[in-house]
Amino acid sequence: MKEKYDLLILGGGPGGYVAAIRAAQLGLRIALVEKEAVGGTCLHHGCIPSKSLIRSAEVLSLIQRSEAFGIKVGSISADFGMAIDRSERVIQKLHRGVLHLMKKHQIDLYSGRGKLISPDQIEVTATDETHVIRGTHTLIASGSRVQPLPNLKIDGRRIISSDEALRRRELPDSLVIVGGGAIGLEFAYIYSVYGVKVTIVEMAPTLLPTEDQEVSSLLARSFKRRGIGIRCGRRVKSLKGQEGHFTIETESPDGATEGIQAAMILVAVGRSPNVEGIGLEALGIQQENESRLIQVDEKMQTNVCNVYAIGDVSSRPTLAHGAMAQGVFVAESISGMDRVPLVLDDIPSAVYCQPQVASVGLTEASAREKGYAVKVAKFPFSANGKAIALGETEGFVKIISDEKKGDILGAHLIGSEATELIGEIVLAKTLEATPLELNRAIHPHPTLSEAVMEAGGAIYGEAIHF
Ligand code: FAD
Repeated sequence: MKEKYDLLILGGGPGGYVAAIRAAQLGLRIALVEKEAVGGTCLHHGCIPSKSLIRSAEVLSLIQRSEAFGIKVGSISADFGMAIDRSERVIQKLHRGVLHLMKKHQIDLYSGRGKLISPDQIEVTATDETHVIRGTHTLIASGSRVQPLPNLKIDGRRIISSDEALRRRELPDSLVIVGGGAIGLEFAYIYSVYGVKVTIVEMAPTLLPTEDQEVSSLLARSFKRRGIGIRCGRRVKSLKGQEGHFTIETESPDGATEGIQAAMILVAVGRSPNVEGIGLEALGIQQENESRLIQVDEKMQTNVCNVYAIGDVSSRPTLAHGAMAQGVFVAESISGMDRVPLVLDDIPSAVYCQPQVASVGLTEASAREKGYAVKVAKFPFSANGKAIALGETEGFVKIISDEKKGDILGAHLIGSEATELIGEIVLAKTLEATPLELNRAIHPHPTLSEAVMEAGGAIYGEAIHF
């Protein structure tokens, strides 16, 4: 048996590899076990390839409306296969970068499938060998995989998941996306820009059901204008037809059925935690009943001493930046740093379709439900100089604040670069700044960030340009 490590990490996604780097910075000896490729879902099957394809779609969309900017382009030909090639190059570049960081920090990378055989030992099985590594602490960061739908079996050809969609070079004529969450909406945007007839079927009454209602409604209107069909409040009942000519039977709560025709179906109904075959049962590590997520306390500790869990295997929503923050937290905690627990409400969410959606904290409805006396203000991008110059006037910045204390309870953005702008409000909320302080901080002009400043002022009736 080899030397004992300070920390064993099972899974090299953003949670696991970031924990490894931070722990190594703090002087710990780290072993990281990964069965596929470091970077995990985020780098190889998630955030990065989807954002690369979205970028191609954005460029195409801009060219499609170039005349509005005084530029006439001849006939446009868009090659989706080349967009996939570009996405692969982006992945490979970042993968090389992460491997370099592993080396730089002297993190021992074990390629193979890992399984906890005791709280301080992981058995690693590669193609031709099995060995055991030992450590003082163990971190489970095995992530998640596509969640299937019982009545829509993914065949990888005509009924696909995000895994296939990110690699598929050919476009169908028509597509039904089952699931109106972040992943479904990002693909709806990409495919619709490339001319595919897209319909989204969502069981909840609105798209992005956990987002602020005003944001969901505006997004639905914007998608409809783009020609995307939206069927909310409907569940998929059955599938008829055959390859290339499906009819998806959907049903509303009152029993009304509707058939939607499509050449291809993309199932995007969520993610299941990778909890099988990693030794949880033998060690008695507790999981939530229904979701099967590993149960952790506010320090990401499981019920078994010195065993921690982070990221998609133990928390929702599934977000790479949440996993990374938890990874840093665990690395620092086991190194003896006294960390204040993470505030899960301060983890922002971001959806990268156009218009983009980003939020942090409570929605207006949830703030009212919790009994806060709320003050709400909105500043539209249509009143922002930079947005007008960019030709991106759709959307708004909405801030919800506590009338009594003046704190920011939540912020909800929809529009161009919303996913970049939310960072400022996350910082303000973390530092317990008030909307007034957001407003008094001098922002450069002309920028989209002035809409954040103005929304801060609007809470007090002091927005200048609206
Ligand atoms: P993962 O990234 O899933 O990594 C887990 C790793 O563990 C994997 O590499 C896996 O191979 C390995 N592993 C599992 N079991 C074993 C085992 N037994 N032995 C060895 N290794 C094992 N999030 C965002 O924040 N922003 C986005 O824009 C975004 N876009 C997304 C788009 C798509 C299409 C998808 C599918 C997801 C997206 N996500 C996004 C979510 C994000 O990818 C995940 O939240 C994030 O990857 C979770 O990180 P993790 O480290 O917990 O797990």
